[in-house]
Amino acid sequence: MDVKALHELQKVDTAIEQAKVALEKLPERTHHAQAQSDLAHVRSSRDNLRREQSTMETELAVIEKKSVEIDAHRAKLERQMKTIIAPREAEALQNEMQTLAAERNELDDRGLLLLESSASVDEDVRKTVDTESRAVEVEATTAHALTQAAAAKSDEITVLLVRRAEVVLPIADADIATYDRLRASYKGIAVAVIQHGVCGGCHMDISVSELDIIKRLPIDQVAECPNCNRLLVR
Ligand SMILES: [Zn+2]
Repeated sequence: MDVKALHELQKVDTAIEQAKVALEKLPERTHHAQAQSDLAHVRSSRDNLRREQSTMETELAVIEKKSVEIDAHRAKLERQMKTIIAPREAEALQNEMQTLAAERNELDDRGLLLLESSASVDEDVRKTVDTESRAVEVEATTAHALTQAAAAKSDEITVLLVRRAEVVLPIADADIATYDRLRASYKGIAVAVIQHGVCGGCHMDISVSELDIIKRLPIDQVAECPNCNRLLVR
């Protein structure tokens, strides 16, 4: 078994896994998601303002219609007034006309108020439309940045996969099977390097006598960590 080749394969596999995680966690992805959320938010505000505008326009139209009706009614009463002789009837007409005038005043006041609010909402809509066009730009820019970054990361993965194909080629299938099994059971580390008497897989000390045994193993025999059983690079 060529443990060094397996160790090389493990390095490439680790790099591939890290690159895949990095692809998922690109900061550009977060920036783009934020830009999308901001855009949705500003569009929702704009829609709310437009609904508000439309409600006010509807009410203004109703006021307009009622005012026209009242004016017509008053004109009719004024004409009647000219033909009336009995003072009691004249008084009744007068009262009715006063009521209509009061109603008309109320409508005018409400109409003015609506016009003022409507002007202020119009201004808000203008501001929101500006904010929206900026948000559209930011969304497009961040989307582009994400596409670029993701493509770069994908290229990196492609290069690593080519490298993996090269590394894996001379390794025997049975050794690959052992490597895969060990990686699955040992959190991705099948092959470990001893550094300063410590196993790079389990981080436990390997005693001097155990190190000596490992060193004396015949070249065709695979060394394993006495603590975690990972393959050891000699
Ligand atoms: Zn170990």
